[in-house]
This record gives sequence, C-alpha cells and structure tokens, in this order.
Amino acid sequence: MLFELAKVLHGEVGASRAAVDAGFCDHDRQIGQTGVTVHPKVYIACGISGQIQHIAGMQDSDIIISINNDPDAPINKIADYVINGTVEEVVPKLIKYYKQNSK
Ligand SMILES: Cc1cc2nc3c(=O)[nH]c(=O)nc-3n(C[C@H](O)[C@H](O)[C@H](O)COP(=O)(O)OP(=O)(O)OC[C@H]3O[C@@H](n4cnc5c(N)ncnc54)[C@H](O)[C@@H]3O)c2cc1C
Repeated sequence: MLFELAKVLHGEVGASRAAVDAGFCDHDRQIGQTGVTVHPKVYIACGISGQIQHIAGMQDSDIIISINNDPDAPINKIADYVINGTVEEVVPKLIKYYKQNSK
C-alpha cells in the first residue's frame, strides 16, 4: 500500500527499525540513528510512534504529516498535520485523491 502511495506521489518509501525488523522493508530504507537521514519536502509518517532514534533521521523534513491511530503519539508533536486514524483506512483515500488530482 505504501509503495503504491509513493508511486502516485513520485516519492520513496522509508521505514522504521521496527518495520525493518518485522521484514516489511530492507535495511537500506531504514530512517534514523542507525539508518539514513532524509529531508524531503513532504514526509508522511504512517504508523510511526516517533521515538528519538527515528526522529533523528527525518526531523528536518519540510512538511511532516502523521497518520496514527494514537492521538498522543510523540510524532504528532513535531508534525505539521495529524490525521487520526488507521493506515489501512487513510492511505487508500490518499492514493485515490492524489490519483484524481494529479495531472
Ligand atoms: C540503539 C538504537 C538505535 C535505533 N535506531 C533506529 C533507527 O535508526 N530508526 C528507527 O526507526 N528506529 C530505531 N530504533 C528503534 C526505535 O527506538 C523504535 O523502536 C522504532 O523507531 C519504533 O518504530 P515504529 O514507530 O515503527 O513502531 P512503534 O514504536 O511500535 O509504533 C507504532 C505506532 O504506530 C501506531 N499504529 C499501530 N498500528 C497502526 C495502524 N494500523 N494505523 C495507524 N497507526 C498505527 C501506534 O499507535 C504507534 O504510534 C533504535 C533503537 C535503539 C535502541
């Protein structure tokens, strides 16, 4: 689902260490203290809690959007926009609307 969203946005998928450890992503996509540092125009945190080791690798992003089912997730404190909900319900809508509105 995230790779489809990235394709629509002409972006890339990064991951937390938890996602890498779970086998969802290769380690070369891990963002943070023991991964890479990124500073994109838009960073969409999908189910990212916002631990310091992850924040270290993305806090200089221009715009941070957080999608999280926990309104108190630490990532929300540094996010410019917060969407309260599950990744499973929110991301398909983003894909749909970005597709509709992209030239
Ligand atoms: C020495 C050291 C180095 C580390 N280096 C790194 C590093 O480089 N990069 C890194 O990322 N981590 C690193 N970590 C691990 C870091 O401390 C965190 O454990 C990790 O970042 C947590 O990843 P997460 O946010 O994906 O998972 P979690 O902390 O488990 O958070 C998941 C979040 O997603 C939300 N959520 C769950 N399900 C859904 C859903 N369906 N829809 C929406 N929201 C949902 C939860 O509410 C929660 O906020 C390091 C740790 C140590 C000790």
